[in-house]
Amino acid sequence: MTTRVTVVGGGIAGLAAAWEAVQRGAEVTVLEASDRLGGKIETAPIDGAPVEAGPDAFLARVPAAVQLCEELGLSSSLVSPAVGRALVWSNGRLRPLPEAMLLGVPTGVVGVVRSGLLSPLGMARASLDLVLPATPADGDESVASLVGRRLGREVVERLVEPLVGGINAGVADELSADAVVPQIVAAARAHRSIVVGARRQRAAAAGGPVFLTPRDGLSALVGRLVERLQAAGAAVHTGAAVDSLDDVDGAVVLAVPAGQVAGLLRRRAPDAADELAAIRYASVALTTFTYPVDAVPRREASGFLVPRRSGRLITAASFATTKWPHWSLPGQVVLRVSAGRAGDERALRLDDDTLVARLHEELVELAGVGGGPVTARVHRWVDGFPQYAVGHLDRVARIERALPAGVALAGAAYRGLGIPACIQQGRAAAAHLVPST
Ligand SMILES: Cc1cc2nc3c(=O)[nH]c(=O)nc-3n(C[C@H](O)[C@H](O)[C@H](O)COP(=O)(O)OP(=O)(O)OC[C@H]3O[C@@H](n4cnc5c(N)ncnc54)[C@H](O)[C@@H]3O)c2cc1C
Repeated sequence: MTTRVTVVGGGIAGLAAAWEAVQRGAEVTVLEASDRLGGKIETAPIDGAPVEAGPDAFLARVPAAVQLCEELGLSSSLVSPAVGRALVWSNGRLRPLPEAMLLGVPTGVVGVVRSGLLSPLGMARASLDLVLPATPADGDESVASLVGRRLGREVVERLVEPLVGGINAGVADELSADAVVPQIVAAARAHRSIVVGARRQRAAAAGGPVFLTPRDGLSALVGRLVERLQAAGAAVHTGAAVDSLDDVDGAVVLAVPAGQVAGLLRRRAPDAADELAAIRYASVALTTFTYPVDAVPRREASGFLVPRRSGRLITAASFATTKWPHWSLPGQVVLRVSAGRAGDERALRLDDDTLVARLHEELVELAGVGGGPVTARVHRWVDGFPQYAVGHLDRVARIERALPAGVALAGAAYRGLGIPACIQQGRAAAAHLVPST
């Protein structure tokens, strides 16, 4: 008998679940609340250039996204950033982030010394990692606790938090090490020194591009996926918000944010609903500026990060046309600027015009931008980033155990918020509901 699967949510996790279910011979319906598929993925072209309003690339080393692109015939369209190096704002100027790092944990001394990011005292404290006895953790802990215990607070504030906090719109003191930096946890478990462990991990992962994206933008991946789903007989509906599971047929993949899932499961699985409601989210405003080419000093870097303790609105900015030359516009450069993180909603409270003016002022100060922008476009990702608090993976396991039969979860709220992790979770949810014959 054919299994019927309803997928609630047409973001990348839901679409990947639908794809996997179709491969397994299920009869599939996708229900998406908004009038657009892709969720956080949204290519919003400027004068034909495939500029992204949300994510701009996926990690190549976690194979799920690369593999999906292969299945959809998109491999030959994948491009990688033209430059990989990033800068960080520190002590009044932008300084290069050392290249030898794993998620902010230095794997070599020379780059850190040259970058000038750490004070002599901070360097000395970080070096203690090489001689300190092993300090095993008892269960999950925060990213700041794991790294700080070995390398000191400066490494946390000046290297790890700008990077890890930037990726997650979070705060290193609150984010779960097990859920957010499993590579560093593994390094710390396998070696007395976290630096030595991180160096081995980095060496093992070396080779090939780190990030990839379809040349026509990430929405091309969504578009191709939907096209193939429909060709395989799946029904894909937009403007179809689901507010109760009573009307939904067959097995269900819930691929919507955790708060929505909590509402949908409240009656049938109240314990799971309580745990789901406890997953917090952070909001981010992503502003895309275009400037005349000569207004922005040329830099051979993909962008820069701004540590939380600087008090600035900007958390990260990318020199987008340096990073992605195929976004080029005649005579103009594109800058993408993020503002807002867990516990910092200042940017979200400003209206668009004020936000643009304040961010421009900071770009003048931090990046030496001269002259005003040609255009500026604000995209607000309210509750865009789930926050994995300490103990997050245990919470997810408890939620999964409390789910009713025939219901599976997928998406950014659970086991990784990057695109590959969402694809992986979508496919795993479908595989759970539709075992292969
Ligand atoms: C600004 C930004 C930049 C990012 N950058 C990167 C990056 O560079 N690389 C990377 O790998 N990741 C990045 N991410 C993370 C990644 O994009 C997301 O975590 C991922 O796309 C989330 O996919 P999802 O399917 O879990 O959820 P979503 O994309 O949120 O999809 C959920 C869908 O469910 C729908 N929905 C909600 N409620 C209902 C309902 N009741 N009924 C029906 N449908 C409903 C929503 O409309 C939405 O379409 C970024 C995220 C943001 C916000």
